[in-house]
Amino acid sequence: MTYEELVKEFLAVVELVRLEAYATTGYEWMVVPKTGAYRSIKVQHGLFIQAHDGLDNDHDGAVDEADERVTAADGGQSPHNFDLARDIVPLSKPGAIWWQAPEGVWHSMGAIAEKHGLVWGGHFKSLYDAPHIEHPKWREQQALWKAGKLVLA
Ligand SMILES: [Zn+2]
Repeated sequence: MTYEELVKEFLAVVELVRLEAYATTGYEWMVVPKTGAYRSIKVQHGLFIQAHDGLDNDHDGAVDEADERVTAADGGQSPHNFDLARDIVPLSKPGAIWWQAPEGVWHSMGAIAEKHGLVWGGHFKSLYDAPHIEHPKWREQQALWKAGKLVLA
């Protein structure tokens, strides 16, 4: 399978997950605008720097661990850089992202993603990342990229 075919297949599965998560939870799910889809290496690096700058990135009035959760990955280290990850979130009502949705809502989506063969960020040991779903073979593409055999747009 070519890289393009892999991405196309992944995006089709993400659509399935979104639709099934809607049917199961009763809430619509959308890809997080801007950062939730494809990220260039440059954009990823910017997020990484931001996450490690010791600032109150989530604007909750405290500098803590949550401020580093923008991303733990530098450019080229995230499946988002290979278009093989999406961050999807439930909507409490049309247009309103529900970041504070109960655990059960996230877990329903995660179980659906895993059923379809994706990796769910809710099961990451290093950093709980409930909205994150990724293709299990993205590291193979990363290896090709490192070897200069895959050029990213
Ligand atoms: Zn993600």
